[in-house]
Amino acid sequence: MLPCFYLFLPFAPNGRKPRVRPINPPDGPYPMPKFLLASALLAATSLVSVPALAAEPAYDLAAQKAKLATIPMAVDTKFLSAEERDVVNLLIKASDLMSEVYLRQRYAENPQVRRAVSMNRRADRDLLVEMFDRNFGPWDELADLHPFWGTTPMPEGAGFYPEDLTRADFEAYLAAHPEQKAALTSPYTVVRRDGAKLVAVPYSVAYKEWLEPAAKLLDQAAARTSNASLRKFLSLRAKAFRTDDYYESELAWMDLKDTPIEVAIGPYEVYTDRLMGAKTSFESFVTLKDPVESAALAKYKNYLRDMEANLPIAEEYKNFQRGFESPIAVAEQIRGGGDNVPGPQTVAFNLPNDERVREAKGAKKVILSNVLGAKFERILKPMGALVLVPSQAAQVDRKYMQLETLFHELSHSLGPGTIVVNGQTTTVDKALKEQNSAIEEAKADVAGVWDILLMMQKGEIPAAERPQLFATYVAGIFRAVRFGAVEAHGKGAALQYGYLRAKGAFTFDAATKRYTYDDAKMEAGLRDLLHDMLMLQAKGDYEGTKAFMARWAKLDPEAEGVIASMADLPVDIRPVYPEGI
Ligand SMILES: [Zn+2]
Repeated sequence: MLPCFYLFLPFAPNGRKPRVRPINPPDGPYPMPKFLLASALLAATSLVSVPALAAEPAYDLAAQKAKLATIPMAVDTKFLSAEERDVVNLLIKASDLMSEVYLRQRYAENPQVRRAVSMNRRADRDLLVEMFDRNFGPWDELADLHPFWGTTPMPEGAGFYPEDLTRADFEAYLAAHPEQKAALTSPYTVVRRDGAKLVAVPYSVAYKEWLEPAAKLLDQAAARTSNASLRKFLSLRAKAFRTDDYYESELAWMDLKDTPIEVAIGPYEVYTDRLMGAKTSFESFVTLKDPVESAALAKYKNYLRDMEANLPIAEEYKNFQRGFESPIAVAEQIRGGGDNVPGPQTVAFNLPNDERVREAKGAKKVILSNVLGAKFERILKPMGALVLVPSQAAQVDRKYMQLETLFHELSHSLGPGTIVVNGQTTTVDKALKEQNSAIEEAKADVAGVWDILLMMQKGEIPAAERPQLFATYVAGIFRAVRFGAVEAHGKGAALQYGYLRAKGAFTFDAATKRYTYDDAKMEAGLRDLLHDMLMLQAKGDYEGTKAFMARWAKLDPEAEGVIASMADLPVDIRPVYPEGI
């Protein structure tokens, strides 16, 4: 299901304007206004107040900032017609509105917090503001959401639920008010308190201030394009912003064709909802498709049935119910918005997530080749030399980073989807709740390698390149664990490390501080791990998944040592896109 994802620089050197604007921006030397001082005294722990200077000494804001390498992204747009250029520029504007919505989805009071951050008198104020904007709030995505402003942890329910609502309280409320369950757990509502009651507020109402202008921009883009499929998608998506019914527009998105403009915009991922894994976050990817590269990879989608059949689980758990339509696009990103901006950048996405659309039609995979290429050169290639013995490190290969990414995305369409738990029909993501994001990401990683091995058996990919496959995979685990143990991909990577290490898939040499993978044990370990994860999903085993993650999703001192040796390498990139084309 879930794709995978994150630029933000107010007062940026390239002159782009800040996407998060403080309300009533302060214009002077930022003295603390009297009303804020008063509220600080009243609520000493509030994020909106100015926290005490005594912060955690171990956390280094400047070092955290340096974890992302800033890379200006030049995209070739010369081949676009004047009409296409106009459409793209409208989409860029709509994209920026997704960031406004997501800022509030992450934390309802974020605009006020940013104002407090921007008006504080600490010497590192500018750095704090920049980190706030990069992270869409005062919690560091690359440090397990460590608060760098105040000490309040980020609410598990982000801005989607009342801040004090616990999972247990919410579930008890749902049990007592079954008539409200559908609305309160909808992917397209926020939950608010109304006295003792909980009420569901539709996104179209809660975020109207930004969704209505975004809908107008999509309507304008629809009116400008001469491509019927793009016009249909944009019109339906504009309607969905006003009605919260995304189904028809998701179907239309699957049918985009004969246009280089590949745009995803709307509420998609549930990663930010760590309370229930139910609420979708707004984001956008504005991309331009590469027709030649897209065609080269399209052949693999014809094997989706074979890949499902090849999963290492009993026949009864395999899922042939889904649509196997799977458009594949290789594209260059020219803008991101909302959920995909903070933290690690998405190299590919696989949408939509709506299981009804996936079963009716399948899902589309979009590989962001310029983002992927930048990460390979700046991170994965140099990382390989720190993780693996030299002979294996030399095998780390961009081709396999791209293939593993593609097959990771294809694998989100494999395995259990709609399942029956205790006689009730449900879906894996509903049954596994907040546990599902990390295990689903790990499943997609491991199944992706498993699928490539199948393609090697079938002669579609040279079997002689197995060393490149495994070396790139092992280096990739270390790339992802650096995202942290809270972020779904980071946690999923820690699971793969812990499990495969225990199976002897790789060994550590204490003298050289490098790993050597074992070809046969790697293949066996991948099969066992994939089997175990798929069965937890097939059974919708929430408690089992929790225990499985607790047992295996851990790093040992050797891994911590290797990760420490990567301190000078960026954790990820922060692409800077042009304001318009
Ligand atoms: Zn994924």
